[in-house]
Amino acid sequence: MPYAVISDVHSNLSALHAVLKDIERRQEVSAVYFTGDVVGYGPKPDECIDIIKEHCNICLAGNHDWAVIGYTDISYFNENALKASLWTRSVISDEHIEDITNFKIIKKMPDLNAMFVHSTPDAPEDWKYIFTTSDAEHCFQHFDHQFCFIGHSHFPGIFEKKADGDIVEYKGSIKINETSRYIINSGSVGQPRDGDPRASYVYINGDFINIIRVEYDIISTQMDMMAVGLPPRLIERLTHGF
Ligand code: ZN
Repeated sequence: MPYAVISDVHSNLSALHAVLKDIERRQEVSAVYFTGDVVGYGPKPDECIDIIKEHCNICLAGNHDWAVIGYTDISYFNENALKASLWTRSVISDEHIEDITNFKIIKKMPDLNAMFVHSTPDAPEDWKYIFTTSDAEHCFQHFDHQFCFIGHSHFPGIFEKKADGDIVEYKGSIKINETSRYIINSGSVGQPRDGDPRASYVYINGDFINIIRVEYDIISTQMDMMAVGLPPRLIERLTHGF
């Protein structure tokens, strides 16, 4: 059954609405899986958590979610991320703190031959990144499934490990090779960083891994960020997608 994977919403309600509408339009999509960071950076944490809970079959936590509930050290956050995290902590409801506390950081789905994690499959709570083929090569040794879905870097892309061991990286959609395994980063719904400001997600239908980009009302999110006094650099970057 076709399914969609979304990640790194970062309290961007307008981007989340646009992505879910695009997924809904593909009527064959049977499930939506969320790989973490519902909050942080953006202006609408409570609203985004409600929607994620309602629409997603899996809700994982990311490092920004853990930051808000005090589960992870935030001293390494840059100044703007730290400000946004502290602001989120000051406004988020107790019910939603509880929700995030209940989110897992890794989930295996044998039916889909897939696992889901925000950062890396080897040590999810260390919040490491997969940027290079050598990062990917290490991580391929730490899961058994055909697919590993990740987020965290906000760069959409796919690493394919072929039957002969070769690893190839793709930036766009590809056809699935039955004898290959894949690490798939769905990019970020709420704060893309690859130079394309459109929201990003992935959907899998039959033979293809599709990386989809969706336009959303960036200005409305920026206005909401201004209204609550979030850092200008975080507001500005949404225009450029980096
Ligand atoms: Zn993130």
